[in-house]
Amino acid sequence: MLRASNSAEMKYIFVSGGVISGLGKGIATSSIALLLKSAGYKVAPIKMDPYLNVDAGTMNPIEHGEVFVLDDGTETDQDLGHYERFLNQSLNKTNIATQGSIYLSVIQRERNLEYDGECVDVVTYITEEIIARIKQAGKSKDADIVLIEIGGTTGEYQNILFLEANRLMKLKNPEDVFHIHITYLPVPASIGEMKSKPAQMSVRDLNAAGIQPDMLLARAQRPLDQSRIKKLSIATGLEPEDIISAPDVDSIYKVPLGFADQNLTDRLLQKMRLTRKERDLPAGRQGLKQWREFVEKINSSKESVKIAIVGKYFSTGDFTLADSYISVIEAIKHAAWTQGLKPQIKWIDSEKIENNIRILEDFQGILVPGGFGSRGIEGKIAAIKYAREANIPYFGLCYGMQLAVVEYARNVLGMEIAHTTEIDPDTKFPVIHIMPDQQKKLLTREYGATMRLGAWDCKLKLNTKVRALYGKEDISERHRHRYEFNNEYLEKFAKNGLNIAGTTPDGKLVEIIEIKDHPFFVGTQFHPELKSRPLSPHPLFLGFIKIASEKKP
Ligand code: GLN
Repeated sequence: MLRASNSAEMKYIFVSGGVISGLGKGIATSSIALLLKSAGYKVAPIKMDPYLNVDAGTMNPIEHGEVFVLDDGTETDQDLGHYERFLNQSLNKTNIATQGSIYLSVIQRERNLEYDGECVDVVTYITEEIIARIKQAGKSKDADIVLIEIGGTTGEYQNILFLEANRLMKLKNPEDVFHIHITYLPVPASIGEMKSKPAQMSVRDLNAAGIQPDMLLARAQRPLDQSRIKKLSIATGLEPEDIISAPDVDSIYKVPLGFADQNLTDRLLQKMRLTRKERDLPAGRQGLKQWREFVEKINSSKESVKIAIVGKYFSTGDFTLADSYISVIEAIKHAAWTQGLKPQIKWIDSEKIENNIRILEDFQGILVPGGFGSRGIEGKIAAIKYAREANIPYFGLCYGMQLAVVEYARNVLGMEIAHTTEIDPDTKFPVIHIMPDQQKKLLTREYGATMRLGAWDCKLKLNTKVRALYGKEDISERHRHRYEFNNEYLEKFAKNGLNIAGTTPDGKLVEIIEIKDHPFFVGTQFHPELKSRPLSPHPLFLGFIKIASEKKP
């Protein structure tokens, strides 16, 4: 029997995945972290990514999904977005470590002769660096429990050093290091029965790396039956109570509740020799009770609100448009559900709009998200014009704001060939342009981590709609772009109905615009979607969705 006593040592829970990729490891890790947090523990998640990119900023979103930006400007992938959304907690660069960044640190040290001429072997030095990063993630949040999500799939070569670091940590501190393995049980169509063999084999792969899991999360179309649990229990040596069903659900936000209902929280705490500090976080500290209420709203929301996201259509690679704009979709959902509305989001290919604007007639709100490059932008501009003229609520995020400025310049201010210099560097009316320091970085091909990134302060002007929505003057929002509003045109816009509603505190950079005589026409140079969370939806999304819902389709 395990004795329950609150040990002061930091605990480490590794999370790995087996059988297939795409199991939702990020959601599972976020859910477990949320459950431990709701029991009163300070948690710190860290994602260990096997790829060699130093960060996600240089990766094509079509292949890798959205680049998620943290307050400190770290460019990461969508798992960090899930962590922040589930934990309602802002993270920083210590919560992500790519294999590239780990090798880079070690190689830089070697170049600086910091290893005193020793032979720098992978095992010892790389694994040491991995362990140091994991500990750093815990320290930076003063955490009780660190959750380490290992990217990739067990059995493949790429993440083997992360597993080795796990093994070494466990050898040294067997009482403080744990492992949860997420596996998959397919139901082959020809058999119609759930098969457990691949899951057994993935645990065996893990065993071959020197790791015995403490718990199994069994992803499958439906919950496991007793017979499957028994088979897995015999094959893995785990107690049946440590085999948790993780069936497909219609909303990711239901996952923590499914785990909680199977007693995952207490089981895990017991293994770590910890007891609950709280039955649940008290009101105001947003624990599981509030989470349940939010999920209840997902279930009970009936009246729909129809939103068009106008973007260029991505259909190649493993990822789709939905992965590339996951934070935008989630932000719309948070704002809709919170207000008892059922979000109906449709992707509109901006290239199709170029000839057929009527596709947009059905929608109560139009959103143009961030983006880069020229493909499909005339369609986006046409959509913005339509929203402005037909009084349809419009929300432009980053590129969506820049193109709204271009549209206004062209169609209201009479500068017909106005453009952003990203597309037309020689335009006569560069209403959106690049700052000299950014220009230099492009010329010298310094692409990695050189955009205007991360949280910037912004002051909102009095008597603007956005200030009323935020309910305050000072805000801080996250950025990821190179181009900016060109202040030479500032007065011309302001005099003609396009308000500069907020700037950086020094007044130099335009952060947010709105059109006066319109139910909702807002463009942000920043990415508000990155800070929307289920239990604290973003005020601008709340406003956009509310006003959209008042417009009848
Ligand atoms: N392409 C634009 C820029 O670099 C907008 C970027 C974005 O939408 N994130 O400024």
